Amino acid sequence: MRGFHYLKNVATVRLDQEVCIGCGRCLEVCPHQVFAREGKKAGIRERDDCMECGACALNCPVKAISVDAGVGCASGMINEWLREHGFGRGGGGSCA
Ligand code: SF4
Ligand code: SF4
Repeated sequence: MRGFHYLKNVATVRLDQEVCIGCGRCLEVCPHQVFAREGKKAGIRERDDCMECGACALNCPVKAISVDAGVGCASGMINEWLREHGFGRGGGGSCA
Protein backbone atom coordinates (compact mmCIF):
# COMPACT_ATOMS: atom_id res chain seq x y z
CA MET A 1 0.00 0.00 0.00
CA ARG A 2 1.71 3.15 -1.18
CA GLY A 3 1.23 6.60 0.23
CA PHE A 4 0.67 7.64 3.78
CA HIS A 5 -1.95 10.34 3.50
CA TYR A 6 -5.47 10.75 4.68
CA LEU A 7 -8.16 11.34 2.12
CA LYS A 8 -9.50 14.85 1.75
CA ASN A 9 -13.06 15.60 2.84
CA VAL A 10 -14.03 12.09 3.88
CA ALA A 11 -13.55 12.14 7.65
CA THR A 12 -16.91 11.80 9.38
CA VAL A 13 -16.02 13.54 12.65
CA ARG A 14 -18.53 16.21 13.67
CA LEU A 15 -18.62 18.46 16.70
CA ASP A 16 -21.75 20.23 17.93
CA GLN A 17 -20.55 23.40 19.62
CA GLU A 18 -24.03 24.04 21.02
CA VAL A 19 -23.63 20.91 23.12
CA CYS A 20 -19.91 21.24 23.94
CA ILE A 21 -19.14 22.28 27.53
CA GLY A 22 -15.47 22.98 26.85
CA CYS A 23 -14.01 20.29 29.11
CA GLY A 24 -11.05 19.76 26.79
CA ARG A 25 -11.13 15.95 26.81
CA CYS A 26 -11.22 15.73 23.03
CA LEU A 27 -8.09 17.88 22.78
CA GLU A 28 -6.35 15.54 25.23
CA VAL A 29 -7.32 12.21 23.69
CA CYS A 30 -7.08 12.97 19.97
CA PRO A 31 -3.81 11.52 18.65
CA HIS A 32 -3.77 13.88 15.67
CA GLN A 33 -4.68 17.20 17.25
CA VAL A 34 -7.82 17.49 15.18
CA PHE A 35 -9.41 19.80 17.77
CA ALA A 36 -8.48 23.23 19.00
CA ARG A 37 -9.92 25.48 21.63
CA GLU A 38 -12.30 28.13 20.27
CA GLY A 39 -13.07 30.43 23.15
CA LYS A 40 -14.76 28.35 25.83
CA LYS A 41 -15.59 25.55 23.41
CA ALA A 42 -13.74 23.05 21.30
CA GLY A 43 -13.67 23.31 17.55
CA ILE A 44 -12.39 21.23 14.68
CA ARG A 45 -8.95 22.53 13.65
CA GLU A 46 -8.28 20.13 10.74
CA ARG A 47 -10.87 17.50 9.88
CA ASP A 48 -8.63 15.83 7.31
CA ASP A 49 -6.15 14.86 10.04
CA CYS A 50 -8.73 12.57 11.62
CA MET A 51 -8.00 8.82 11.50
CA GLU A 52 -11.47 7.98 12.83
CA CYS A 53 -10.24 6.12 15.87
CA GLY A 54 -13.34 7.17 17.81
CA ALA A 55 -11.53 8.24 20.98
CA CYS A 56 -12.99 11.74 20.99
CA ALA A 57 -16.59 10.60 20.74
CA LEU A 58 -16.07 7.94 23.39
CA ASN A 59 -14.57 10.44 25.83
CA CYS A 60 -16.85 13.42 25.30
CA PRO A 61 -19.02 13.60 28.43
CA VAL A 62 -21.93 15.29 26.67
CA LYS A 63 -21.84 13.41 23.35
CA ALA A 64 -21.06 16.55 21.39
CA ILE A 65 -18.87 14.58 18.98
CA SER A 66 -19.89 11.95 16.48
CA VAL A 67 -17.65 9.92 14.22
CA ASP A 68 -18.12 6.77 12.21
CA ALA A 69 -15.07 5.06 13.63
CA GLY A 70 -13.07 3.20 11.03
CA VAL A 71 -15.03 4.35 7.99
CA GLY A 72 -12.33 6.69 6.72
CA CYS A 73 -9.62 4.06 7.11
CA ALA A 74 -11.64 1.48 5.24
CA SER A 75 -12.49 3.97 2.49
CA GLY A 76 -8.85 4.94 2.18
CA MET A 77 -7.64 1.38 1.82
CA ILE A 78 -10.33 0.48 -0.69
CA ASN A 79 -9.73 3.60 -2.77
CA GLU A 80 -5.97 3.04 -2.71
CA TRP A 81 -6.41 -0.57 -3.82
CA LEU A 82 -8.74 0.51 -6.63
CA ARG A 83 -6.30 3.20 -7.75
CA GLU A 84 -3.33 0.83 -7.72
CA HIS A 85 -5.28 -1.71 -9.75
CA GLY A 86 -6.44 0.80 -12.32
CA PHE A 87 -10.05 1.10 -11.25
CA GLY A 88 -11.38 4.63 -11.05
CA ARG A 89 -9.59 7.59 -9.62
CA GLY A 90 -9.10 6.45 -6.01
CA GLY A 91 -7.97 8.85 -3.35
CA GLY A 92 -4.43 7.82 -2.50
CA GLY A 93 -5.00 7.43 1.20
CA SER A 94 -4.39 5.04 4.01
CA CYS A 95 -4.86 5.11 7.73
CA ALA A 96 -2.11 4.88 10.29
S1 SF4 B 1 -11.75 10.04 15.78
FE1 SF4 B 1 -9.67 9.94 16.70
S2 SF4 B 1 -8.36 11.05 15.23
FE2 SF4 B 1 -10.47 11.60 14.74
S3 SF4 B 1 -10.85 13.48 15.83
FE3 SF4 B 1 -11.54 11.79 17.16
S4 SF4 B 1 -9.80 11.27 18.46
FE4 SF4 B 1 -9.02 12.54 16.76
S1 SF4 C 1 -14.87 16.46 24.94
FE1 SF4 C 1 -16.90 17.19 24.26
S2 SF4 C 1 -17.56 18.67 25.79
FE2 SF4 C 1 -15.35 18.36 26.07
S3 SF4 C 1 -14.39 20.01 24.84
FE3 SF4 C 1 -14.53 18.20 23.53
S4 SF4 C 1 -16.50 18.42 22.43
FE4 SF4 C 1 -16.54 19.83 24.16
